[in-house]
Amino acid sequence: MAATFESINPATSELLATLAVADASAIDAAVTRAAAAQKLWAAMPGVERGRILRRAADLLRANNNVLARLETQDTGKPIQETSVVDVISGADCLEYYAGLAATIAGQHIDLGPSAFGYTRREPLGVVCGIGAWNYPLQIACWKSAPALACGNAMIFKPAELTPLTAIRLEEIYREAGLPDGVFSVVQGAAETGRLLTRHPDIRKISLTGEVGTGIKVMTDAAATLKHVTLELGGKSPLIVFEDAALDNAVSGAMLANFYSAGEVCSNATRVFVHRSIYDVFIEKLRLRVGTMRIGDPLDPETQVGALISEQHMHKVLKYIETGKKQGARLVIGGNRVVHSKMNKGFFVEPTVFADCRDDMSVVQEEIFGPVMCVLVFDSEQEVVRRANDTLYGLAAGVFTQDITRAHRVVAQLEAGTCWINHYNITPVELPFGGNKLSGIGRENGIAAIEHYTQLKSVYVALTDIEAPY
Ligand code: NDP
Repeated sequence: MAATFESINPATSELLATLAVADASAIDAAVTRAAAAQKLWAAMPGVERGRILRRAADLLRANNNVLARLETQDTGKPIQETSVVDVISGADCLEYYAGLAATIAGQHIDLGPSAFGYTRREPLGVVCGIGAWNYPLQIACWKSAPALACGNAMIFKPAELTPLTAIRLEEIYREAGLPDGVFSVVQGAAETGRLLTRHPDIRKISLTGEVGTGIKVMTDAAATLKHVTLELGGKSPLIVFEDAALDNAVSGAMLANFYSAGEVCSNATRVFVHRSIYDVFIEKLRLRVGTMRIGDPLDPETQVGALISEQHMHKVLKYIETGKKQGARLVIGGNRVVHSKMNKGFFVEPTVFADCRDDMSVVQEEIFGPVMCVLVFDSEQEVVRRANDTLYGLAAGVFTQDITRAHRVVAQLEAGTCWINHYNITPVELPFGGNKLSGIGRENGIAAIEHYTQLKSVYVALTDIEAPY
C-alpha cells in the first residue's frame, strides 16, 4: 500500500483529504506516460494547443467560486482574495499563453548567396513543476501554461500542505481536451520532489520555494544537466520618499505585507520611510492596520485569514518575539488570535515594527508572515545602498511623485521586479523572477517561452559543395 498524507484546513484544523504519496514506480509511470503524450502534443499545430489552453482558461473562470472556496480551505487565505486573484490570475495566464502558442517561432538568418540558416524553437520534452503552498493553483498555472503552449508535457507536484487545487486543474485540462498524460499531478513531499529532480528523463525543473530548496534542486538537477527555473524567497524593500502620496504609500505598504497574511514571496517586508514623514506615516499605518478584519477565511468580510500551519505560525510568533528582544518598537499587532469559533486555527495579527535597524533578524530574514518592519532614512544614496544590502533580490518598490527620481532609483535597485507607486501587482504580461539568491529564470511574459524551449539551428546549402579533397 502506498504511503499517505493528510491535507488540513489551517483555519479549523479539520481534515480535508487523505492523499497517496507518489513513489518511485509512480513517478516512472508518470514520466513514461508524459514522454509518449508529449510527442503527440508537440506535433499539434500551436493554434490547436492554444485552443485547448483557452478552453481550460474559460473552465477555470466558470468554476471560480468552487475553486476559490477549495483554495481558501486548503490555504487559510480569505475568500475575498482567492475569489478575485488566485483562480482568475491562473485563468489569465492560460489565456495569455493560449494566444502565444501559435506565435512561437524561430528566425530566418541570411548567410549570403550560397546558404541560409534558420532556427526552430522546439520544446524541451517532459518538464516538471514543483509548487510552494502560498499560491497553489496560481503557481500550477504559471508553470503549466507556458510549458504546454511550447509543446512540453508537465508533471506537477504541489506542496504537501496544499495538494487539492492542482488536482482540479488536471481535471479541467482534461475536460478542455488536453491529451492524457500531457499534464499530470503527483503528490508527496520533498522525497517525491527529489525523485523528479533526479529523474533522467525529465528535462527541466521549475521550482517555487525557499532558497535552500532551490539550491538542493539545482544540485540534484545538475547530475542530469536539467534546465532550471527557480522562483525563490525574498526580503524586498519599499522606499517611501518625502514627496510620496502618503495614503497611497500606506496602502502600498499594507498590500506589500498583509495580503495572504504576509505569505507572499515578493512582499516588501523592509519599508524605508523618509525621516520627514516617518511619524505621520507610522500613525496612519497604525490606524488603518487596527481596522483590519481577521477571522473565518470563508467570510467575504475577512481580510486576514489563517497562516498555513501550526508550525509556521510558531515560526512567525518566534520572529515577533525576537524583534521585540532586539529592540524594534511594536506599533500594533504581535499576537496569535484565538477565535471562539475557530480556536484551532493558526491566526496571527497583522504586525508592524517601527524603529528597526538593518542588522535585526526580523529585517534580514524572510519571515513569510504578517510582519512589517519600518526603517527610517535620510538620503536617496543611503536608502538605495541599504535597500540593496541583502542576499535576496526578488522585488522592490518606490513611492515618489518625482518621475526622474523614481526611474533613477529603480535602475539602481537589485531586484527582478520593481513597482513605482504600487506594490505586488503581477500582470501575466510582465516577466516575474528574482535576482541574486531570489532565483534564476523568469515566469510570465514572452520571457517564459525561452525557458520552456530550446533552439535548433539549421544550415541550408544553396550551392554545390567545394570539397578540398
Ligand atoms: P519549500 O522550499 O519548503 O517547498 C517548495 C516545494 O519544493 C514544495 O513542493 C516542497 O515539497 C518541495 N521540496 C522540498 N524539498 C525538496 C527537494 N529537496 N527536492 C525537490 N523538491 C523539494 O517552500 P514553501 O512551500 O515553504 O514555500 C515558501 C517559500 O516559497 C518562501 O521562501 C517563498 O518566498 C517562496 N516563494 C517564492 C515565490 C517566487 O515566485 N519567487 C512565490 C511563492 C513562494 P513539500 O513542501 O511538499 O515538502
